[in-house]
Amino acid sequence: MVRAITFDAFGTLIDTGRDVLIRIARAVCDDHQLAVDPEALLATWDRHFFGPEGDSFLTLEEITEGSLGKAFREHGIEGDPRPYVDQLVSLWRQAKAYAEVPAVLAALDGIPRAVVSNADHEFLIDILKRNGLRFDAVITSESARTYKPRPRIFEAALESLQVAPRDVVHVGDSLHADIAGASRLGMRTVWVNRAGVHRGPGDPTPDAEATDLTALPEIIARIA
Ligand SMILES: [Mg+2]
Repeated sequence: MVRAITFDAFGTLIDTGRDVLIRIARAVCDDHQLAVDPEALLATWDRHFFGPEGDSFLTLEEITEGSLGKAFREHGIEGDPRPYVDQLVSLWRQAKAYAEVPAVLAALDGIPRAVVSNADHEFLIDILKRNGLRFDAVITSESARTYKPRPRIFEAALESLQVAPRDVVHVGDSLHADIAGASRLGMRTVWVNRAGVHRGPGDPTPDAEATDLTALPEIIARIA
């Protein structure tokens, strides 16, 4: 029985694209006449972004600013990271749903659905609205005060939809955040592997895998 579907947002429903991050990194390098290339700056930024989680909850925007600030210091850049974060957030807000998404959601109409996303709340609501995507619940890391793969954010969605984990399929592009996180609660999972990544022996095993969302209605019917 599939009583509900939960979706990751970025990389699953919404295309943010790495080119946006490279654009910002290039702007930093140009503005500060750095010898370092944008890819190297982005690698430093990434390393700080995905660094250890602190004790207190930080929004994605705070993490973005903090990690860019650390990258600035590491590369000897004197300046304020804030304008670059503002620019990045405004570019991200223009992100578009993948082409197949509206038709797939229409085909799945009637099955309650939620978004479970590592994102700031108003930011994600705005992007979903701009793309005309409707959900019965939108649970973000900011609303749940924790990030996937932690159980609490998935549990908030289950509570909101009033469904048991075994009756829900979670659809996401991250093996770590989505597939491992949802599986641990007993939810079934569909891994959206748009980049054609190979799963390693230590990686979590999804119940199904797809290159985009086109086959999702069939997959849901099969799982049901
Ligand atoms: Mg994602």
